[in-house]
Amino acid sequence: MARITFIGAAGVVTGSKHLLETDAGARVLLDCGMYQGLRDLTERNWIPPPVDPKTLDAVLLSHGHLDHCGYLPALAQQGFRKPIYCTAATAEVAELVLRDAAHLQEDEAARAAKHPERGLHTTPLYTDADVDVVASLFSSARYDDMRDDIAGCRFCLKDAGHILGSAIIEVYFESKKLTFTGDLGRYGRPLLHDPSAIAQSDYVIAESTYGDRLHPKNDPQEDLCAVILAAQQRHGVLVIPSFAVGRAQEILYAIGRLQAANRIPRLAIYVDSPMAIAADAIMERHPEAMRFDLKERFGPGDTAIGAQSVSNVVSSADSIKLNDLRSDAIIIASSGMASGGRILHHLRNRLPRSNDTVCFVGFQGPGTIGNQLINDRGSVRIFGLRVEARAHIVKIDGFSAHADRDELLRWFGGFQNDPRTYIVHADPKPAASLAAAVQQRYGVIASPAAVAEVVEIS
Ligand SMILES: [Zn+2]
Repeated sequence: MARITFIGAAGVVTGSKHLLETDAGARVLLDCGMYQGLRDLTERNWIPPPVDPKTLDAVLLSHGHLDHCGYLPALAQQGFRKPIYCTAATAEVAELVLRDAAHLQEDEAARAAKHPERGLHTTPLYTDADVDVVASLFSSARYDDMRDDIAGCRFCLKDAGHILGSAIIEVYFESKKLTFTGDLGRYGRPLLHDPSAIAQSDYVIAESTYGDRLHPKNDPQEDLCAVILAAQQRHGVLVIPSFAVGRAQEILYAIGRLQAANRIPRLAIYVDSPMAIAADAIMERHPEAMRFDLKERFGPGDTAIGAQSVSNVVSSADSIKLNDLRSDAIIIASSGMASGGRILHHLRNRLPRSNDTVCFVGFQGPGTIGNQLINDRGSVRIFGLRVEARAHIVKIDGFSAHADRDELLRWFGGFQNDPRTYIVHADPKPAASLAAAVQQRYGVIASPAAVAEVVEIS
């Protein structure tokens, strides 16, 4: 009897980790993500998973977002030394994201050590040295290749269309098949493919981040055009807090299209994120994970994804110089929720200026500065100081990388049989909502997975 144990991302959106044990003895971890968000969730990262990492045969990794790969260095620290199979693009994205996470944790631990009264962890969960180990374990698999590297099962990765390199993971064992969605992307997006349709599976583990919500139907590029024009009319600077991997590139591509159509005036554009610049280059190296080859369309070495008048800001000194800009400029900086990174310096500088604009282009988690700003807080705390928010604050929803409820249901429509389905990667409400909708529309048995739940499959 094969078994699945839902270790993480069950009843919550982060910490994706599911253990598959087959009759033939394969022990495979599907994703190895970190819990993110409020402290009661992040504390779970300090509890070792209920599986001895040394007994695992492999990790199958869906994509490079931290909530799917962010626990890998901790797993390595606990003795895991087996292959981590993923696409070549995901290996690069994950390494970039993990090194950033390690540095952030090292900084946070150092700060916590200076303020023991706060009761925070004074040692990092992992360091850059642990990421070195993880980087040596990545083993790349091409989309659609059937692989038999793991004794006791075979696997195949299909494009999930969520971020660069993201995959739906199919695992074949004992004449059965399990499909794990990772995170599913959108249909009809400009840079990435649609999520691959899967025709048959015995079991499905499906994400449901947006299982009870719909994205707005308007074109985010049009919304961005309106925000840029309004910011220009205010004679101020437009600041876009953006995730460095994926979102920043989509924004640049949209700006390039608007420029090509002469829809927006000539503005200086600054990408103030070394990580976003690195992510641009990864995208150029992996046309197999894109709708088109960036090198062919924009020429090799173009890290602006087709946008004009773009300056990449690498050094901190050059980043500080951006404070002097008064108008006719767009600054794209990370992190996307303003929870860290260079964007904090820009917000401290720009928020008090009533003619500047701050435009959020992604989900803003509870407790983050981004969330406080979009909820009309008159002021926020940055670096321990209260900063008045007089700048114009706007939000564009349509850039989401996650399939919404209709898109998740559309993906389920690809099955020609009725796979037993377990819903993960969602809060309880969207998980229950999607389970009910899938059951009603397609007649498949679907239920939300509970954390630590073990299901026997045969
Ligand atoms: Zn993701």
